[in-house]
Amino acid sequence: MRAIVIAVGSELLNQERLDTNSLYISRRLREKGILTDMKMVVGDNREYLSWVVRQACKRAQIVITTGGLGPTADDLTREAVAEALRKEMIFREEIVAIIRERFRLMGMAMPETNTRQGFVIEGAEVLPNPVGTAPGLFLDTEPCRVLLLPGPPAELQPMFDAVLEARIGPLSRFHVCSAVMRIAGLSESEADARLTAALGRIANLDVTILASPGLIEIRLMGRSRKDMAEAEEAVTIAADRVRNEFARHLVTEKEESFAAAMLGRLRERDLTLAVAESCTGGKLADCLTDVPGSSRSFLGGVVAYDDALKRDFLGVSQETLTRFGAVSAETAAEMARGIRKRTGADIAVSITGIAGPGGATPQKPVGLVYFHLHTADGDVGQRRLMTGDRGVIKIRSVHYALDMIREYLDGRA
Ligand code: AMP
Ligand code: MG
Repeated sequence: MRAIVIAVGSELLNQERLDTNSLYISRRLREKGILTDMKMVVGDNREYLSWVVRQACKRAQIVITTGGLGPTADDLTREAVAEALRKEMIFREEIVAIIRERFRLMGMAMPETNTRQGFVIEGAEVLPNPVGTAPGLFLDTEPCRVLLLPGPPAELQPMFDAVLEARIGPLSRFHVCSAVMRIAGLSESEADARLTAALGRIANLDVTILASPGLIEIRLMGRSRKDMAEAEEAVTIAADRVRNEFARHLVTEKEESFAAAMLGRLRERDLTLAVAESCTGGKLADCLTDVPGSSRSFLGGVVAYDDALKRDFLGVSQETLTRFGAVSAETAAEMARGIRKRTGADIAVSITGIAGPGGATPQKPVGLVYFHLHTADGDVGQRRLMTGDRGVIKIRSVHYALDMIREYLDGRA
């Protein structure tokens, strides 16, 4: 079973808006064992759209459009799809009655243009839209099913989830189960090579590896035509091999961020954390506080950007700053000690580096970052030289810092 997704809207053709609907749809389809072969963006052009839909229906078993179901003149998806499938448009007064009622509840009269949304393609099932006015349409036709969904993601997602469970998922010839494993402390190429070698050949398994700066995600998907047990077995075997191979690098086996995983471990051991950041500008604290309940383990931190703040607030000595500079192992160490002293946290982590594009010297290039972890058990410092732009260096640094915490908690710091 193969799918083609067509995002409709002229605003998606330029920088105004990014098509995110197709990402959502293809991810959810994949969870049901349905792969997306192609996705397209088409402007609000009825002729092009109807041509594309007709071609798509010749190839795929399911064609999904998003957008263009609104009441205005540039919303052409209904008409274009009807044309492509050579079907009539039928007016359904009861749809308009629902929309009129929605407006009434908001204390408004329904604009006349909304009557357009009462036109549906003959034979289509009307999918209620609990969030907005535009209903979706589902054509349960052979050999290709066609699904029309509204553009706003908040409307599309619940509607798609409902139709996926009820109508599309059951069409999949596969039983699917999946697992996610996140690892850190390895380059993508090294992780990829080791993963391929460790997994070997496993029947019914589909593996994807996804790298973001400082964190690598391994997605395992078992797919079986026979039964769920076969799909699960593939994932179980693969997960065991991944666990063995990357025991020293495993961050989490849940759909959670690096920060969330570390906070979970801190909480289990009843440990507290504080941070002192320079070049990451509070990003580490931001990632930590993104996690609900973070206050149970995360005490707080400081963005000590200026040397004076490193000195006066964190107690980094002027001599250290003058002799070694703000970006140095010595400063990082004193920053970590300073924030631990100030907060009384069990674990203190500091980050100081050059995020670029300016500020580099021959001895200290862009991407040079020092980290330090200080606890009652002792100290660990790290020097990293990383590539990327300012944003990448910042997020990579956050992940490296979290990885130092991971190593410490794993007892290998
Ligand atoms: P429409 O259903 O075409 O009237 O779209 C309504 C709004 O939904 C647009 O203005 C966009 O803000 C948003 N939208 C439409 N298509 C997409 C898409 N593929 N991805 C993300 N947002 C979208
Ligand atoms: Mg539109």
